[in-house]
Amino acid sequence: AHLTDEDAAHVARRQRLLGPAYRLFYKTPVEISRAKGVFLYDKHGNEYLDAYNNVVSLGHAHPRVVAAIQKQLEVLCTHTRYMQDPLLDYAETLINTFGGELGRTGCAMFTCTGSEANDLALRIARYHTRRTGVIVTAEAYHGNSGAVAAISPSLGKKSALHPCLRMIAPPDSYRLPLAEIGRRMAEDVARQIADLERHGDGLAAFIADSVFSSDGLYVDPTDVLAPVAEVVRKAGGLFIADEVQSGFGRTGTHLWGHARHKVDPDIVTLGKPMGNGYPVAGLVVRPELVAEFGASMRYFNTFGGNSVAIAAAQAVLDTVLEDNLMDNATRVGGEILDGLRTLQNKYDFIGDVRGAGLYFAVELVKDRDRKVPDMDRALAAVNALRDQRILISATGADAHILKIRPPLVFTSANAARLLEGVDNALRAVQT
Ligand code: PMP
Repeated sequence: AHLTDEDAAHVARRQRLLGPAYRLFYKTPVEISRAKGVFLYDKHGNEYLDAYNNVVSLGHAHPRVVAAIQKQLEVLCTHTRYMQDPLLDYAETLINTFGGELGRTGCAMFTCTGSEANDLALRIARYHTRRTGVIVTAEAYHGNSGAVAAISPSLGKKSALHPCLRMIAPPDSYRLPLAEIGRRMAEDVARQIADLERHGDGLAAFIADSVFSSDGLYVDPTDVLAPVAEVVRKAGGLFIADEVQSGFGRTGTHLWGHARHKVDPDIVTLGKPMGNGYPVAGLVVRPELVAEFGASMRYFNTFGGNSVAIAAAQAVLDTVLEDNLMDNATRVGGEILDGLRTLQNKYDFIGDVRGAGLYFAVELVKDRDRKVPDMDRALAAVNALRDQRILISATGADAHILKIRPPLVFTSANAARLLEGVDNALRAVQT
């Protein structure tokens, strides 16, 4: 498919009105007017298979979430400065899903976006430690506010990073010996803490997405973060688990990604799928950390945790658990992973296939021995899938890793269509 004159004029209008910082997916942009379940539809009624959207993890326009939002909006939508039992009930349900210390005594705080949640987590960590140093992985993304953009190296080389930000290599299971990854990562973190103590004011927090999405999706091994947490704690820093990508059942076997690594975070941040499209995000924090913070200053977020946001969040969490969506993610995810591995035998430019639950990476390389990233082929494959009306994207420092992340309600039939599409796309970009 190529851009018609009408498409080009449409894109130019968007560029003029929104400016150049907004990016569009695909060479031929997808225009959508409605969505239901795992499908998006354009104005002509063409159907697109959504294999990318983890915000609507229950599927687009999920009836239970829509009904909860509508009902609550008709009754009351106000903020957290009034007594509202549904807010407390949701906080309780949420906190009870955590293991360890957080599950026993944690406090929940609410924001509108994952960025705000990480921003607040950083404020709490810096207040507690009286230090500013932060350690992240090399291509981490933690959000778009000034403070969290400054700890998000994936935003681009020219984006200003905090002077006390230090980066470590991601747990690249394709290139590093698996048994060594945890030890290497802990050593890297220890080295960066020493550097922060020499040249800065020391470590406030280590923050990571436990599936390392923007680094290229490294879901295994899962013995990586526990040794890191130990080093971080020893230095008096906090361990923040960013669950914006890995949370709410995405990995199938665990509701929370950090639980796969058997770590007990000090703060967990949440977002994206929490409201299935309604903006709601937040964090769960050890009570003594927020006690000192809260004693010194107040926190208020006008829309964060409003009555409608909470109704949406409660409907989402109940649905994930009652409809066994994690089991579905494990089962259908297993089918997709098997299918992608079969394709790896067929196409020698697939270097590696990784996945957990309904989250997959297909790493494209110029040759398997040297493992050189093949960004052009990945881009072509994403667009070839788009031309078959199947939506995915690419990730990693070199954007050479196909990123596939369908809603948790994906069926075996959806999986078969996806795999057939990936096969067609890879055949199309083979030469
Ligand atoms: N953390 C991670 C790991 C993310 O992937 C994102 C969003 N891509 C964010 C934080 C920021 O979330 P939001 O866009 O809701 O601010």
